[in-house]
Amino acid sequence: MTESSNDYPAVVDPAAAAELSHRVAGPVLLPGDKGYAEECATYNPAVPNNPALVVGAAGPSDVQAALAFAKAHDLAVAVMNTGHTTVVANDRTLLITTRRMDEVTIDPVARRARVGAGVRWQQVVDAAAKHGLAPLNGSSPLVGVVGYTLGGGLSATMGRKYGWASDHVTALDIVTADGQVRQATADAEPELFWAVRGSKSNLGIVTALEFELFPVTRLYGGVLIFPGEHAEAVLRAYATLTARAPDELTTSIAFMRLPDVPVFPEPLRGTFTVHVRVSFLGAAAEADALLAPLRTAAPVMIDTVADMPYTDYAAIYSDPEGPAPFAERTLSLSPLTGDLVAELLASIGPAADVPADIIELRHLGGALRDTPAGAGAAGLRTSEFVLWVVAVGGPDLTGPALRWTDGLFAALEPWALEGKHLNFIGQEDLSDEAVRAAYPAATYSRLARAKSGYDPANVFRLNHNIKPAV
Ligand SMILES: Cc1cc2nc3c(=O)[nH]c(=O)nc-3n(C[C@H](O)[C@H](O)[C@H](O)COP(=O)(O)OP(=O)(O)OC[C@H]3O[C@@H](n4cnc5c(N)ncnc54)[C@H](O)[C@@H]3O)c2cc1C
Repeated sequence: MTESSNDYPAVVDPAAAAELSHRVAGPVLLPGDKGYAEECATYNPAVPNNPALVVGAAGPSDVQAALAFAKAHDLAVAVMNTGHTTVVANDRTLLITTRRMDEVTIDPVARRARVGAGVRWQQVVDAAAKHGLAPLNGSSPLVGVVGYTLGGGLSATMGRKYGWASDHVTALDIVTADGQVRQATADAEPELFWAVRGSKSNLGIVTALEFELFPVTRLYGGVLIFPGEHAEAVLRAYATLTARAPDELTTSIAFMRLPDVPVFPEPLRGTFTVHVRVSFLGAAAEADALLAPLRTAAPVMIDTVADMPYTDYAAIYSDPEGPAPFAERTLSLSPLTGDLVAELLASIGPAADVPADIIELRHLGGALRDTPAGAGAAGLRTSEFVLWVVAVGGPDLTGPALRWTDGLFAALEPWALEGKHLNFIGQEDLSDEAVRAAYPAATYSRLARAKSGYDPANVFRLNHNIKPAV
């Protein structure tokens, strides 16, 4: 049933769409159909998402049918679970949504989870906690497990202790461009298994993921919030903390200039504050000793750092539940030496004119440096920090912030390191050159060879696209 019409001509014949709907279990929706807008809704409404057709896949056979349809109708294919990343589906696109594949199974003996492609992190955290286990989730309970993990998966709670989430995947089910359902493991299709864990949707659509869990039930964590005017003292103390942090301590520091809009809580909206986010897998006394110099570096506005059940981890970052329009960019950086700290204070400190809303440095190192046997293609193993810049609003607001970011990145160039965290790459950095720069050169070449083997026609191109090697 039609409720509205888009302003481009339909490229999919409704009769063909109706025929497809008889062959799949989930919905098949054209622009204007009832439910189309809800099915295409993203976490980031700044990015238009108007596919020619959307298929709500209920399982691998729906994905296969949708792929065959896209091939027959010469449509590009995009995949979406929660819409936390830019999808940019347009009128020559078939969008496959995965949220109906929402099963979670925990194997407490093997300490593994198996999840469908539509699962979000909180579901896994809650299911694993019943067995005294925890996954390598990120800061937000609402982010999708598969998209996060295929982009490396930088855990905000246990990253430095256990490494990249993508390195702890043990098996994945994927539908490749030729329509085949494959299971990839270290032994079966090892090159596909390596490449998918770092190329997101470039090689196919993952329908299920199996990964390791860890025996963690509690953490000592929370946030320390300081007035922005004390940014210098806080950043210097944070630099000292991270220079000697044990692997059990995973932290980040964020310079927050939050707009005065209700999506952000009082008393933070409309002010400049500095937030240090803390997760420690150990005794409270040990963490308190590590944090003492930070707590006394400047007046603390809010201190929530305390012992908590692992299931409460989302309180550390309190990420907005959204949806909210935003743009993002990222850079990899070296350790916070005195000259880098001075440059950061000059560029984003209290005296700087900063149009971006959130500038965060996530601390890497620890196990994130390791390349374990069977590691995937993702992972910034030589960087010490990931810089994540987020500007909130539509293009009129984020445009100036993004132009300003060019200057920031130029100023930080002396400390910039190879590669980018794939999960923080925004729409502005999807050019061939920018995607290439996200990987070490040898990794990109190997991924391009895998791409030419599994998706030579580049059916999966609506992502941070890796071109097939020629
Ligand atoms: C508030 C917030 C907090 C975040 N915190 C963290 C964090 O702590 N650590 C971190 O590493 N990242 C973090 N991220 C980034 C997040 O991991 C990425 O945005 C990730 O891509 C989201 O995946 P999704 O499935 O939720 O989003 P979607 O937009 O649905 O998917 C994003 C992309 O993932 C790929 N993808 C999704 N599903 C599939 C599939 N079934 N098969 C193949 N490819 C697929 C596709 O390329 C798709 O375009 C955060 C993002 C936000 C907005």
